[in-house]
Amino acid sequence: MNKLYFLILWFPVSLFAQPTYLLKPDRVFDGETTHEGWVVRISGDKIESVGAANTVSATGAEVVDLKGTTLMPGLIEGHSHLLLHPYNETPWDDQVLKEARSLRVARATVHAQKTLLAGFTTVRDLGTEGAEYDDVGLKQAINKGIIPGPRMIIVTRALIATGSYAPKGFSPDIDVPQGAEEADGHDALIQAVRRQIGKGADAIKIYADYRWGLMAEARPTYTIEEIKLIVDVAKSSGRGVAAHASTAEGMRRAILGGCETVEHGDAGTPEIFALMKQHGTALCPTLAAGDAVSQYRGWKKGQEPEPDRIKQKRVTFKQALDAGVTICAGGDVGVFSHGDNARELVMMADYGMKPLDVLRSATSVNADAFHLADRGRVRSGLLADLVAVDGDPTKTITDVQRVRIVMKGGIFSKR
Ligand SMILES: [Zn+2]
Repeated sequence: MNKLYFLILWFPVSLFAQPTYLLKPDRVFDGETTHEGWVVRISGDKIESVGAANTVSATGAEVVDLKGTTLMPGLIEGHSHLLLHPYNETPWDDQVLKEARSLRVARATVHAQKTLLAGFTTVRDLGTEGAEYDDVGLKQAINKGIIPGPRMIIVTRALIATGSYAPKGFSPDIDVPQGAEEADGHDALIQAVRRQIGKGADAIKIYADYRWGLMAEARPTYTIEEIKLIVDVAKSSGRGVAAHASTAEGMRRAILGGCETVEHGDAGTPEIFALMKQHGTALCPTLAAGDAVSQYRGWKKGQEPEPDRIKQKRVTFKQALDAGVTICAGGDVGVFSHGDNARELVMMADYGMKPLDVLRSATSVNADAFHLADRGRVRSGLLADLVAVDGDPTKTITDVQRVRIVMKGGIFSKR
């Protein structure tokens, strides 16, 4: 009887306890700086201790030799759309209007796995683009261990001002389903924000400007009063707001309205970036999306001169850096292939950031910007979300694409 009682108590613990590991790379990038010869001890789903090899106990741990690698915090993708796939495969309009949601979700499960295997253990997924609340179930499937994938911060449908978004270009006599939720004005906006939160949104995404009406160029959408209202309602539940904005005026309203991040920011000016710095608004530049779209439109990268759009993006990105704006790492992946997330990091370096700063953006800076105190650094007590890559990406940024191992919550996703 006593023995049986013992077994019942003992079995679940022993069956489900995770192994303890001691990871031995050449160096550790801890999210802020690099330490040669450091090792990391993992216990359960957490980092137990980290430091020079002679200061961290190997007792009871399986030693994992990672010679030749740099061990880093699991990378954080700042701007993904797991429910989209590259536009050169299927244009965005057709994904929204012609693809069954079951098809889109089936694809998304594969996208999630590819993201994780690329070393990105967290994504901030900024909108389902017509796939309703399907990010909620996708996140649950990952958290329940049904499918492999990154931890997800989700925004569900995202918010748009009526008439401002897409698909567009149809007869004005028919109503075409849109890629996000239309809501305007005091009561409707409050309800929409609360409804999205109720259904699972961790943050709110708005489109502060967009190519609107028959004109080709982007124009501001929400008034500053509407943005302030959205931010107030989201904030009162402890959630931040991310704003798509590419025009200077759309960015200005997003910043003054209290949004935490500006996505894209292509037509920012030195004055706007100074305003971002002043208000602590972070920029998620999505360099890789612009690069991909330009190539889908026919630009032969490497053979032809850069189109004006790319030249201009280099200029404004540099202005943001010079202004000291906090730079998140987020590529708008989905526009290009999931699993190729590091393309954004390589481009950030190409456009003028030091590799070390790029890696900070993709780890500790993103973690801070998205209020993720439990990850983004290699530090005792934090989640054991880690990636080891061959070489030293703090010196050669493309090494970030040479993934050796990925660990999420103390369990190897790739080894
Ligand atoms: Zn996006």
